[in-house]
Amino acid sequence: MEIKSLNFLKELVDSPSPSGYEQPAQGIWCKYVRPFVDEIKKDVHGNAIAVINPHAKFRLMLCGHCDEIGLMVNYIDDKGYIYVRPIGGIDTAILPGQRFYIHTRKGPVLGVIGKKAIHLMEEEERKSAGTPKIHTLWLDIGARTKDEVEKIISIGDPITFAAGLDYLKNGLVVARGFDDKMGSFVVAETMRLISRKKPQIAVFGVSTVQEEIGARGVRTSAFGISPDVGIAIDVTHATDYPDANAKKTGEITLGKGPAISRGANINPIVFDKLVSTARANRISYQIKAEPIATPTDANAIQLNKAGVATGLVSVPNRYMHTPVEIIALSDLENTAKLLASFTYKLAPKMSFIP
Ligand SMILES: [Zn+2]
Repeated sequence: MEIKSLNFLKELVDSPSPSGYEQPAQGIWCKYVRPFVDEIKKDVHGNAIAVINPHAKFRLMLCGHCDEIGLMVNYIDDKGYIYVRPIGGIDTAILPGQRFYIHTRKGPVLGVIGKKAIHLMEEEERKSAGTPKIHTLWLDIGARTKDEVEKIISIGDPITFAAGLDYLKNGLVVARGFDDKMGSFVVAETMRLISRKKPQIAVFGVSTVQEEIGARGVRTSAFGISPDVGIAIDVTHATDYPDANAKKTGEITLGKGPAISRGANINPIVFDKLVSTARANRISYQIKAEPIATPTDANAIQLNKAGVATGLVSVPNRYMHTPVEIIALSDLENTAKLLASFTYKLAPKMSFIP
């Protein structure tokens, strides 16, 4: 991967963007994409929309959501311990013993979710230590009183795991929030690739917001853009680690290329074109079975207005919704290459009626 792209990926993934608080990530995204596009704007919801050939007849929308899961300050007790509510699908079993940043108006404040030491636990407590209820957990920032906390932290401040991007073996990288900042990264990279040779159609690249709390940003942005074809880029569960089950979720492997979804949420002509594009360009790909509506932006795109021809292209991801999500850099590059090649296959007046 080019060093500029890698630096952008790191900056984007390291920036905080819990659903509803995406502006730091959106600022980084807009700054990177601006030189490659004809227009760039943000809407009232916070979606960032970059456009190449805005006035062309046929509209392709590419989107990846930049929001990540997180926590929110809910209550501060008299001793200065902070209680939280989840933003999106948080696994409470992995919270105790972790470091977090509370993103205040004055900047990030470090805190930890504490846990009673194992020495002090009764036999019964050790056996029953499973998934705690979130209201039983507390954040400790080292404060002594409620007053001290309230001077810097406000109710509703968002919180993220204090974990950035790091490198593993064999071109793999680990970070929190690859779900789905890597999707908005792929959209930005696709815009960069197609800026070299403009396609015949209008391409709207969108970094959407609030996916993790019910695919909300994509609904307003798809309505505003009114695309003919829409492709969502998200992560999908890899099944190449010890307790994953390919019999349940299909065989998906890191480094074997983007997973192209097939099923009711996907227009069959879009699916065929994505597969033929991958083959023609010798881009390795995988196929993912999706018998029902996918829990992604692709669902809202397909149901926009009178219906949109929709595709879903996913990057394999291990340990989704943990601070140690793993993906392969080669899968990111191949996904952007596939989408860039796909835009050149589209032309005005093309029909997607199956
Ligand atoms: Zn997610």
